[in-house]
Amino acid sequence: NTLLDIRDLYVNAEGQEILKGLNLKINKGEVHIVMGPNGAGKSTLAHSILNNPTYEKENGEIIFEEEDITDSKTDEIARKGIFMSFQLPEEIPGVSVTNFLKYARNKMTGKPVRLMPFKEEIRGYMEQLDINPSNMERNLNVGFSGGEKKKNEILQMLVLNPKLAILDETDSGLDVDAIRTVSKGIQMYKNDENAVLIITHNAKILENLKVDYVHILVDGKIVKTGTEELAGQIEKEGYGKYKLE
Ligand code: ADP
Ligand code: MG
Ligand code: MG
Repeated sequence: NTLLDIRDLYVNAEGQEILKGLNLKINKGEVHIVMGPNGAGKSTLAHSILNNPTYEKENGEIIFEEEDITDSKTDEIARKGIFMSFQLPEEIPGVSVTNFLKYARNKMTGKPVRLMPFKEEIRGYMEQLDINPSNMERNLNVGFSGGEKKKNEILQMLVLNPKLAILDETDSGLDVDAIRTVSKGIQMYKNDENAVLIITHNAKILENLKVDYVHILVDGKIVKTGTEELAGQIEKEGYGKYKLE
């Protein structure tokens, strides 16, 4: 039932040690939240799962569906079914939202994508996510508001339907309604066979989402794992006591 198993992971970037013995296990059907102070290594964790070459793995392994993906190429890892949203979504002039999604779907499935039914599918998701359907023909992320970019990431997740979705601060900078929409999108995606890893500073996203585990990441390690109450406690008290330990 284990989907992702990260064991004793040490990661460097530019010669600096960032992850220092991180362990994390995610089973199918689970929603995991990772919280932690700025610079703790949260985004590094996400990049390391996708084996972004900027980040050097010094020790440890990452097992996905019983397969060692520690040193696999990023696009291979994506094809195996791990999706990652980016903290700063890229603007891609000359590529419409629809064409980008069509390309991505084709890459994932290896099958040709029939345009008309595909457009209908996207239109359905857009309606659910409260995205203006005219955005389908716009260039990807160009001139999109912060909220539109973030909702687009959720749209990509729904279209690609990965086994594991990693959302790095997808909710940051969103108004309360948009956060609710993002939560709704995650609920739509979620089923018993897949899992989500949400990196966030915002306990608000948890309100509309059934969360299984909350992890606190400090100084390159997960120092505490709990349930939703832990997020509430962090919101009140901050990370101070975990930094000292
Ligand atoms: P978080 O997402 O928790 O805020 P990051 O994973 O982005 O933290 O960064 C953790 C630490 O690693 C920070 O000190 C950051 O400056 C450093 N770091 C991250 N990426 C790089 C990189 N590509 N090159 C050098 N240092 C990096
Ligand atoms: Mg940061
Ligand atoms: Mg980050």
